[in-house]
Amino acid sequence: MTTSTRLLLPPVMLLGVLGCANMFAAPEGEQEDSPEAVETSVPEGADAGVEGDESAQEPEAGPLDGVHIALDPGHAGGIAADPQKAQTQVDDGRGGWKDCQAVGASTNSGYTEHAFNWDVSQRLTELLEEDGAEVRLTRENDEAFGPCVDERGQFPQEVGADVYVSIHANGSDPSYSGYFAIVSDPPLNAAQGEPSLEVAEHLNEGLAQEGFDESNLIPGGISQRSDIAGLNWAEVPAVMMELGEMRHAEESAVMETEEGRQRYADALHNGLLSWAETQEEITEE
Ligand SMILES: [Zn+2]
Repeated sequence: MTTSTRLLLPPVMLLGVLGCANMFAAPEGEQEDSPEAVETSVPEGADAGVEGDESAQEPEAGPLDGVHIALDPGHAGGIAADPQKAQTQVDDGRGGWKDCQAVGASTNSGYTEHAFNWDVSQRLTELLEEDGAEVRLTRENDEAFGPCVDERGQFPQEVGADVYVSIHANGSDPSYSGYFAIVSDPPLNAAQGEPSLEVAEHLNEGLAQEGFDESNLIPGGISQRSDIAGLNWAEVPAVMMELGEMRHAEESAVMETEEGRQRYADALHNGLLSWAETQEEITEE
């Protein structure tokens, strides 16, 4: 069924909106021809029983089969111990300079942003993998120093990701609350701009549906910025999510519970699912 659909797709469509991002995802597109050749060579009247067995053994298709997702749990536990290394200057992706890392925010009771980001990323990874996605993280634990921001921005194309989500929480004034997304602007390549804005909109929608409030700091919930190295370097649709405000009393109380962090993961999971539904050239590979 999917085979004949695929045959009808003009090659131009496969390039789609993602532009160069697609090249990382499917470097061996020409191999897609071979299964068709095999199928047409099956003689008529071939043993129907065998064919039936084969289709019965096919694993159930997950909604994120074939989707490669890079997650960046912002900051890291080991950064505070090495402030000198954190201040090492790295290329911000626009010809400027940026600190290698920042310690990140924390709640008034001392719950750290890096721990929150790490925990939500772990929960989100589990949900995405259950749906068939291949997930890669920019760091392997919450204890080490972790990569600098420029390396994080280069990570998604290095691992062939279709999409990149950097997970953060904000630490501004206690009067501010709510989630917002950040995208690189002005766009530096075809994956930034509209393709990244689309991911941001789906993730924001996922958070809204889970009952979280949109930011009262960033009207519209999307901040377009030129100074985020981790986004400037990305060559796939890339978004940084500030899931909430860690200095806001009610929001920080939610972040500090496992139940609350699961809700953030569920929200991002649903956002990525609805985004993937719009990306036929990825999910039908
Ligand atoms: Zn952060």
